[in-house]
Order: sequence, then C-alpha cells, then structure tokens
Amino acid sequence: MSIHILFEGIDEPGLNRLEVYQRRGGYQALRTALAMSREDVLGELLTSEIRGRGGAGFQMGKKISFLPRGDMDKYLVCNADESEPGTFKDRELMQKSPHMLIEGIVIASYAAGIGRSFIYIRGEYDYQADILEAAIAEAYEAGYLGEQILGSDHSLSLVLHRGAGAYICGEETGLLDSLEGKRGNPRLKPPFPAIQGLYQGPTLINNVETLSTVPHIIRMGAAQYAEIGTQTSTGTKLVSISGDVQRPGNYEIALGIPSREIIYGLAGGPADGREVKLWFPGGSSAPVLTKDDLDVPYDFDSLAKAGTMLGSGAIIVVDDSHRVLDVAYKLAKFYAHESCGKCVPCREGTNWTVKMLQRIEAGEATPMDLDIMASVQDEIIGNCLCVLGDAMAMPVGSIIKKFRAELEEHIEAARERAGIGSLENVIPVGVADAHAGPLPVH
Ligand code: SF4
Repeated sequence: MSIHILFEGIDEPGLNRLEVYQRRGGYQALRTALAMSREDVLGELLTSEIRGRGGAGFQMGKKISFLPRGDMDKYLVCNADESEPGTFKDRELMQKSPHMLIEGIVIASYAAGIGRSFIYIRGEYDYQADILEAAIAEAYEAGYLGEQILGSDHSLSLVLHRGAGAYICGEETGLLDSLEGKRGNPRLKPPFPAIQGLYQGPTLINNVETLSTVPHIIRMGAAQYAEIGTQTSTGTKLVSISGDVQRPGNYEIALGIPSREIIYGLAGGPADGREVKLWFPGGSSAPVLTKDDLDVPYDFDSLAKAGTMLGSGAIIVVDDSHRVLDVAYKLAKFYAHESCGKCVPCREGTNWTVKMLQRIEAGEATPMDLDIMASVQDEIIGNCLCVLGDAMAMPVGSIIKKFRAELEEHIEAARERAGIGSLENVIPVGVADAHAGPLPVH
C-alpha cells in the first residue's frame, strides 16, 4: 500500500548530515547526471512525465523546455513556502533529508542550464531553515555547489531565503515579488515565470517534493520511474493526512491507489463510531468530497474527474461530529485574512462570504442566502488575479452544493435560537415585493 522512494530511510538518524546522506548513496545521481549531456538529463525528466507536486500538477520536464535557450541569467526557485492548510510533507523532507533537495536542485539546474538558485522557505519553518542552511554549507564545502561542480562545466549558487509568513507568498509570482524584496503580491500572467520571472529573467519554479524526486528519477531511470503510478500520474506522492483520522502523518503512496486505502488503510480512518462526513483531497482549497467518493483513485486525473483536485496532496478528513457550517466558516475566514487585497472579487468576496456565514450563525439568514452565496462563489471562480479567490470559492461552493440540507437545518435552528422565528413565517423576497406593488414615487 505504501511505497518508499522519497521516504526510503527517511528516519535514519543523522540523514540531514552530508556524511550519512552520502553513505546511503546520496549525490551519486548528481555524478550520473553530470556525466550525461544536459539534453539527456532533460530527456529523462520528460520521459518520467513527473508532474509538479506543489498544486498545479504541470509536467516538470515541459516547464524546463519552455525556458529560452542561450546565454542569459536564468534562475531556479524552489518553492518551500508550504502554507496550504493540511500540508506538511515538504517540512519533513527538508528537516530529515535536506541534501536530497539540494541534489535535486543541482540536477534540475544542470538540465535547464541555470546558474543561480534560491530556496524560498516559509517564515514559520525556522527549524527546517537552520537545517537547510547547514546542509547548503556542507554541499558548498564538498563541491556539490559553487563553481564547476565536481569538475564539470556546471556552476550553481544556492541561497536560502526566509519568508515572513504570508500564505500568498506560496503563489509563485507573489513569491517572486517577495524574493525581490517587494510586498508579496501576485503578478498578472502572462508573462509566465519561465519567460519573465525573478529579476525579469527566465525562471524555473518547482516545489520541494518535485525537486527532491529528481535524483530518484536519474538513479532509477525515467522509464522505471514512470512505471509507478498511472499512465498520466506517474510516480509516487507524499500525502499529508490530518483531521479526524487515528494515524495522521505523511505517507508515500503510488499515485492511483483508492483514496480509501489512504484514509482508512494508512491513516486508520475516523475514531470508532464515527464516519467520514467530508474530506479535502488536495489541501483546504480543493472542492470537498464525501464518504461516497472514498473509492476515487488518488491521482491527478481521477480527482479532476470527480470534480476536485489533487492540489498539494494534503487530505483533511472531517467526521460526522462536525457541522459543515463551522468548516465553511473557518475556511472563508482563513482566505479572507490571507487575501492580498489586490483584486476585487477575492478581496470583497472572501470577506463577504465570512459575513454571510456569520449571518447564518446569528439566525438572520434564510435559504435564499445560500443561493446568493453559491452564485457569488461562482462569480469569484476564474475572475481573480491569482488562485487565492478560487481557493476559498471552490471548497465553500462545494459545501453549499453538497450539504445544502444540513445548512438549511443550521439556518432554521439558528433562527429559533435567536428568537427570530421559524422560516415558515418568512415571506420570500420576490413574493413580498409582489404584494407591496410598485415603489412609491416621491
Ligand atoms: Fe490578491 Fe486575492 Fe487577487 Fe490573489 S486573488 S491577487 S490574493 S486579491
């Protein structure tokens, strides 16, 4: 059920140190890659068909192919701003095996002809940042970073940059602005970072897990790697699972296994006597699924077909002891707080959704408010500058759609609690207007 490639030996004491990493065969893949041509290394990444593990699921090899060729300043940026609620797999990778990430960065930069690289790590990951800094120093010392790496014609600098704790800096263009020393605001795309990214130069941005997988693709050979998983979702995936399960944590799985095997088989499912009410398959920004969807294969395309997404690979399970109203409220509040405020649908839509959910709790809402809320979520989706607006609207919209009956019960119960009266006494607005006749003209 679980498989170990990235997590092979991950708990070995001292693996964060170069000596132990090398003893386990670390940096052998880099030697292999440097003995190949850049084109052949890129060919391996293309053949592996590895899709980005950060959220968008775009093929890494294709991303590299989009970078312009020729002699110019190009950059590689590792997105280590792991801030999607429920996601904590990159933290474990950086903490326990930082050299695996560094090795992946050096190989990817070689394939892409890049000479400067950065790791942008989220502000709260202080402990992991210290470990990475020590590992980077060891890698420089050993000749795995710097000028003419291992005697080859490839040189690479690597700088660790600590963020300041803003969710939006995990969005790739917000991250680039922040890295340049500006406020972390997303940029309008196109141009995409592959053409105009950091300091206006072509930039390859990949997530920690994606880059950490690169040495394994070179070590195993792309064809063998691509045999794991499904035809369109190759390889393994680290899944962070949290919420109402008995064994929360990070697990490595082959893409395509039934989601039930992860939630029940690996994580033990909800406590005895409880059952899954809903679950987020790809971090808190993914549309929710229900207990009827537990057999959906856990891969990019099957989850998309089920109307949601694999996203960051974080499963959050909510059992039947929770009210969906509270789930939607917590989500909306988080995204309203993290909105950078640059565009109207997100800035206003997230805050307005919070107020509407508060209105339900206060007993002031009617079922018609659910219709309005659902239509506002539809208006937000696809109309924002970056994905943050969608990140709230997609899960909240899916909760309204899939748990409408329960939300109506909350509305009724809250009205009674507040002494506002049952909905049976409420005349729908359209009907009231008709009774009132035309508006008086003064
Ligand atoms: Fe900022 Fe939200 Fe617009 Fe993204 S969608 S740019 S976070 S306001």
